[in-house]
Amino acid sequence: MRIGHGFDAHQFSEGDHIVVGGVVIPFSKGIAAHSDGDVVIHALCDALLGALGLGDIGMHFPDSDPSLKGCDSRLFLRQIQSLVKQSSYALSNLDCTIVCERPKMAKHFEAMRQNLSTDLEVPYSKVNVKATTTEQLGFVGREEGIAAFAVVLLEEDKF
Ligand code: MG
Repeated sequence: MRIGHGFDAHQFSEGDHIVVGGVVIPFSKGIAAHSDGDVVIHALCDALLGALGLGDIGMHFPDSDPSLKGCDSRLFLRQIQSLVKQSSYALSNLDCTIVCERPKMAKHFEAMRQNLSTDLEVPYSKVNVKATTTEQLGFVGREEGIAAFAVVLLEEDKF
Protein backbone atom coordinates (compact mmCIF):
# COMPACT_ATOMS: atom_id res chain seq x y z
CA MET A 1 0.00 0.00 0.00
CA ARG A 2 1.25 3.50 -0.78
CA ILE A 3 -0.12 6.90 0.20
CA GLY A 4 0.36 10.21 -1.62
CA HIS A 5 -0.46 13.80 -0.76
CA GLY A 6 -0.75 16.88 -2.95
CA PHE A 7 -1.41 20.60 -2.55
CA ASP A 8 -1.91 23.38 -5.06
CA ALA A 9 -2.95 27.03 -5.05
CA HIS A 10 -3.57 29.58 -7.77
CA GLN A 11 -4.19 33.29 -7.77
CA PHE A 12 -7.36 34.70 -9.27
CA SER A 13 -6.93 37.03 -12.24
CA GLU A 14 -9.12 38.90 -14.69
CA GLY A 15 -11.58 36.57 -16.33
CA ASP A 16 -15.06 35.14 -16.36
CA HIS A 17 -14.61 31.50 -15.36
CA ILE A 18 -12.42 29.09 -13.42
CA VAL A 19 -11.78 25.38 -14.02
CA VAL A 20 -11.95 23.12 -10.95
CA GLY A 21 -11.96 19.33 -11.11
CA GLY A 22 -12.37 19.62 -14.87
CA VAL A 23 -15.60 21.62 -14.46
CA VAL A 24 -15.83 25.07 -16.05
CA ILE A 25 -17.45 27.34 -13.44
CA PRO A 26 -18.64 30.80 -14.49
CA PHE A 27 -17.21 33.42 -12.08
CA SER A 28 -16.37 37.11 -11.91
CA LYS A 29 -12.64 36.26 -12.02
CA GLY A 30 -10.30 33.88 -13.86
CA ILE A 31 -7.24 31.90 -12.76
CA ALA A 32 -3.63 32.99 -13.26
CA ALA A 33 -1.76 29.91 -14.48
CA HIS A 34 0.31 28.49 -17.32
CA SER A 35 -2.20 25.67 -17.84
CA ASP A 36 -5.93 26.03 -17.06
CA GLY A 37 -4.95 26.33 -13.36
CA ASP A 38 -7.15 23.48 -12.12
CA VAL A 39 -6.11 23.24 -8.46
CA VAL A 40 -7.97 19.97 -7.80
CA ILE A 41 -6.32 18.17 -10.70
CA HIS A 42 -2.89 19.63 -9.94
CA ALA A 43 -3.11 18.56 -6.28
CA LEU A 44 -4.34 15.14 -7.38
CA CYS A 45 -1.52 14.70 -9.92
CA ASP A 46 1.01 15.52 -7.20
CA ALA A 47 -0.64 13.06 -4.81
CA LEU A 48 -0.52 10.28 -7.43
CA LEU A 49 3.09 11.05 -8.37
CA GLY A 50 3.98 11.17 -4.68
CA ALA A 51 2.44 7.76 -4.07
CA LEU A 52 4.32 6.34 -7.06
CA GLY A 53 7.59 7.93 -5.90
CA LEU A 54 7.85 9.77 -9.22
CA GLY A 55 8.44 13.36 -8.16
CA ASP A 56 5.94 16.10 -8.86
CA ILE A 57 3.81 17.67 -11.57
CA GLY A 58 6.37 20.39 -12.35
CA MET A 59 8.95 17.72 -13.29
CA HIS A 60 6.53 15.97 -15.66
CA PHE A 61 4.78 19.05 -17.08
CA PRO A 62 7.09 22.07 -16.68
CA ASP A 63 5.47 25.52 -16.86
CA SER A 64 8.40 26.53 -19.10
CA ASP A 65 6.95 24.27 -21.83
CA PRO A 66 5.11 26.54 -24.31
CA SER A 67 3.05 23.60 -25.64
CA LEU A 68 1.33 23.35 -22.24
CA LYS A 69 0.07 26.95 -22.26
CA GLY A 70 -3.65 27.04 -21.49
CA CYS A 71 -3.58 23.24 -21.43
CA ASP A 72 -6.54 21.19 -20.15
CA SER A 73 -5.17 19.72 -16.91
CA ARG A 74 -7.21 16.56 -17.47
CA LEU A 75 -4.51 15.65 -20.03
CA PHE A 76 -1.97 15.65 -17.17
CA LEU A 77 -4.22 13.46 -15.08
CA ARG A 78 -4.75 10.95 -17.89
CA GLN A 79 -1.00 10.77 -18.53
CA ILE A 80 -0.34 10.17 -14.84
CA GLN A 81 -3.05 7.50 -14.85
CA SER A 82 -1.01 5.70 -17.52
CA LEU A 83 1.97 5.77 -15.11
CA VAL A 84 -0.24 4.22 -12.41
CA LYS A 85 -1.24 1.51 -14.88
CA GLN A 86 2.41 0.79 -15.71
CA SER A 87 3.19 0.43 -12.01
CA SER A 88 2.34 -2.56 -9.86
CA TYR A 89 -0.30 -0.49 -8.02
CA ALA A 90 -3.93 0.43 -8.56
CA LEU A 91 -5.86 3.35 -7.13
CA SER A 92 -7.80 2.36 -4.03
CA ASN A 93 -9.45 5.73 -3.34
CA LEU A 94 -8.85 9.45 -3.45
CA ASP A 95 -10.10 12.42 -1.47
CA CYS A 96 -9.82 16.09 -2.45
CA THR A 97 -10.55 19.22 -0.42
CA ILE A 98 -11.07 22.51 -2.25
CA VAL A 99 -10.31 25.61 -0.17
CA CYS A 100 -12.27 28.54 -1.54
CA GLU A 101 -14.47 31.38 -0.34
CA ARG A 102 -16.33 31.95 -3.60
CA PRO A 103 -17.71 30.64 -5.90
CA LYS A 104 -19.58 27.94 -4.02
CA MET A 105 -18.44 24.49 -5.08
CA ALA A 106 -21.00 22.01 -3.74
CA LYS A 107 -23.27 21.91 -6.78
CA HIS A 108 -20.26 20.95 -8.94
CA PHE A 109 -19.01 18.03 -6.80
CA GLU A 110 -20.89 15.40 -8.78
CA ALA A 111 -19.51 16.56 -12.15
CA MET A 112 -15.98 16.80 -10.68
CA ARG A 113 -16.18 13.27 -9.25
CA GLN A 114 -17.44 12.04 -12.60
CA ASN A 115 -14.52 13.67 -14.45
CA LEU A 116 -11.93 12.30 -12.04
CA SER A 117 -13.39 8.79 -12.04
CA THR A 118 -13.45 8.80 -15.87
CA ASP A 119 -9.86 10.00 -16.22
CA LEU A 120 -8.55 7.64 -13.56
CA GLU A 121 -10.69 4.71 -14.74
CA VAL A 122 -12.06 3.96 -11.28
CA PRO A 123 -15.64 3.75 -9.99
CA TYR A 124 -17.30 6.99 -8.87
CA SER A 125 -17.50 5.61 -5.32
CA LYS A 126 -13.68 5.68 -5.03
CA VAL A 127 -13.54 9.41 -5.70
CA ASN A 128 -14.51 12.11 -3.20
CA VAL A 129 -14.47 15.88 -3.58
CA LYS A 130 -15.39 18.29 -0.82
CA ALA A 131 -14.80 21.96 -0.03
CA THR A 132 -14.30 24.38 2.81
CA THR A 133 -13.81 28.11 3.26
CA THR A 134 -11.21 29.61 5.61
CA GLU A 135 -13.78 31.75 7.43
CA GLN A 136 -12.51 34.86 5.63
CA LEU A 137 -8.90 34.28 6.79
CA GLY A 138 -5.83 34.56 4.57
CA PHE A 139 -5.55 34.73 0.77
CA VAL A 140 -8.54 32.45 0.29
CA GLY A 141 -10.61 34.51 2.71
CA ARG A 142 -9.70 37.71 0.88
CA GLU A 143 -10.85 35.99 -2.34
CA GLU A 144 -7.41 36.38 -3.91
CA GLY A 145 -7.19 32.75 -4.95
CA ILE A 146 -8.17 29.12 -4.55
CA ALA A 147 -6.36 26.06 -3.21
CA ALA A 148 -6.84 22.31 -3.00
CA PHE A 149 -5.47 19.32 -1.13
CA ALA A 150 -5.58 15.72 -2.34
CA VAL A 151 -4.80 12.37 -0.75
CA VAL A 152 -4.63 9.07 -2.62
CA LEU A 153 -4.16 5.47 -1.59
CA LEU A 154 -2.68 2.93 -3.99
CA GLU A 155 -2.90 -0.81 -3.40
CA GLU A 156 -0.85 -3.61 -4.87
CA ASP A 157 -2.49 -4.65 -8.10
CA LYS A 158 -2.98 -8.42 -7.88
CA PHE A 159 -4.29 -8.90 -11.39
MG1 MG B 1 -1.07 24.42 -10.21
